[in-house]
Amino acid sequence: MSSTPSGVLKEDEESNQGMKRSSGCLKGHDSQTATLLKETPLENLRLASQAVLERAQKQGRSSCPRCKSSRMFYCYTCYIPVETVPTGEIPVVKLPLKIDIIKHPNETDGKSTAVHAKLLAPDSVTIYTYPCIPDYEDTRHEIALIFPGPNSVAVNDIPRSLQKKCQGQVSCDEEDESLTEPALKNARLEPGTDSNLDAADWHSGGKTGPLSKIVFIDSTWNQTKKIITDERLQGLLQIELKSRKTCFWRHQKGKPDTYLSTIEAIYYFLVDYHKEVLKEKYDGQYDNLLFFFAFMYRLIKTAKSSVGKE
Ligand SMILES: [Zn+2]
Repeated sequence: MSSTPSGVLKEDEESNQGMKRSSGCLKGHDSQTATLLKETPLENLRLASQAVLERAQKQGRSSCPRCKSSRMFYCYTCYIPVETVPTGEIPVVKLPLKIDIIKHPNETDGKSTAVHAKLLAPDSVTIYTYPCIPDYEDTRHEIALIFPGPNSVAVNDIPRSLQKKCQGQVSCDEEDESLTEPALKNARLEPGTDSNLDAADWHSGGKTGPLSKIVFIDSTWNQTKKIITDERLQGLLQIELKSRKTCFWRHQKGKPDTYLSTIEAIYYFLVDYHKEVLKEKYDGQYDNLLFFFAFMYRLIKTAKSSVGKE
């Protein structure tokens, strides 16, 4: 991209002092840009054409069709694209499960990448503002929460952990019976044993996988710690993601670079789930979840390098 990313910089003035300083002295450095692109971990994604974003960026801010606020690319309060970004030109990503995102009320909407998920997979993603969150009581045997706690398990451990949890719950509820007939109980709970807990079972049952829903918390680390103690989230299986470095340009000060933005966490979870739990070949099916993220990353990286920030 050779043009100056003025639109994004304008957007950024609201929330990023560093970028604000860099506006006004931007130049295109194509060779430098090319080198940088090679280094980015986002370069091999299978993304839909971003021509629509390039056009919108050149036009600058536009109105939200619903609340009429002036925004770049999308409205972060209505979760819809602005007028210069027709919905039909944005990719739609099909997900193997539903996603709930719990947002802390103090989280600045414009800074969050959670809305990317809602824009790109509108039928599968729901954003809740804490403390207005659902009660997961009845469905907790097929729901998990992304949180790196002392009891969290890896993605490839989801099937086994869910089954263990399920059995544990039953034996607590009906202790006598389970003590005397553990084998029978086991058989009644799941039509199989650990050894055949594989993709074939879920497909035959008409389900896509062992999880119907995954919950993410979209907030700073300190706010997350508070939300995680909410009684409605107790008893949910907690999942810890593999360590990966963030590409987020607003990553939290004082936090390690393995602290992912919400859209990165969602993306990496889905890739691992697809490969390690659904046991299917990953062919870029969820890459378009990074449609906005990769575009904005590239603009900001280019802008920063042009002014010698990096
Ligand atoms: Zn709006």
